[in-house]
Amino acid sequence: MTAPIRTIAIIGLGLIGGSLADLLHEHDPDLVLLGVDTDARTRELAKAAWFSGVYTHLSELPQSVDLVWICTPLELIRETVEALSAHLQGPAILTDVGSLKGRIGSPLLSRDNHVFIPGHPMAGTEKTGFEASAAVILSGAKYLLCPPTPASPQYDRFAKFLTELGFRVKELSIQAHDEAVALASHFPYIMACLTVSSADAQAGIPYAQVVSSGFRDTTRVASASPRWGTEVCLGNRDALQKALATTVNQIEEFSHWLASADTTAIERFLSHCRKTRNEVMDQ
Ligand code: NAP
Repeated sequence: MTAPIRTIAIIGLGLIGGSLADLLHEHDPDLVLLGVDTDARTRELAKAAWFSGVYTHLSELPQSVDLVWICTPLELIRETVEALSAHLQGPAILTDVGSLKGRIGSPLLSRDNHVFIPGHPMAGTEKTGFEASAAVILSGAKYLLCPPTPASPQYDRFAKFLTELGFRVKELSIQAHDEAVALASHFPYIMACLTVSSADAQAGIPYAQVVSSGFRDTTRVASASPRWGTEVCLGNRDALQKALATTVNQIEEFSHWLASADTTAIERFLSHCRKTRNEVMDQ
């Protein structure tokens, strides 16, 4: 039987790191939570919450922890895993929450007595930072995991822990993860941005004075961090270019239906989209 996870370090106490900490504390106030963040104000806010220790650099962390959750910006994940693997002693689970997996790289999987489990909660908001974090953001969310090779009992231990926290765990290979999140997250982000920029490009029409719930709901993610957006666009370029090419074809087709006032084609298309969207949201 494996020991329970009791001591957890979170690296990067922003929206996702802070929300995870809140969820963990809500789940079990006796868990020992340690935090690392480069931002002084964030460290102050975290210290005032329920962390047992908050540090500037991961080298200050105790060398023995059960689990480290890497919640830094995407481009820092690989170097953070490597630095942690050099610093920690004793078996530890290392995991991340990065929105892309392929670029982190498979050489990191299972090293010494540490196992790295790529993970990704399918939840968030368009905001950033510890102040915007809250357990409710992650509560009951889908949580994507990429099982490591070779198989590890630590993986089962972590997957079980996530389930106990209320997450709905789904397993995917690294490649399938990046292709799926391209369509489920990154592409909708680009379309939201294009909706805003297309409306904005139509000079002289006072659309901003009349926007309401439809525009707000459709474009919410366009308010996400441009740093995150640029990272995922470039990191998932191939899948996004494929999705964009499909969309360009569909836009041309739809435009043709509009030009020819093809009621049947338009209604069939809109009905199909409504049915598909409703089915997808039920999963
Ligand atoms: P965030 O709110 O900007 O949080 C990132 C935090 O990490 C900030 O406090 C940042 O400090 C800190 N940080 C930067 N470099 C660090 C370092 N070397 N050591 C320790 N801390 C460091 O961003 P987020 O939205 O939580 O995103 C974090 C990760 O979650 C990303 O990998 C992203 O792909 C993933 N993710 C995000 C969402 C979402 O909806 N936002 C959803 C799922 C997954 P500074 O502010 O000083 O840079």
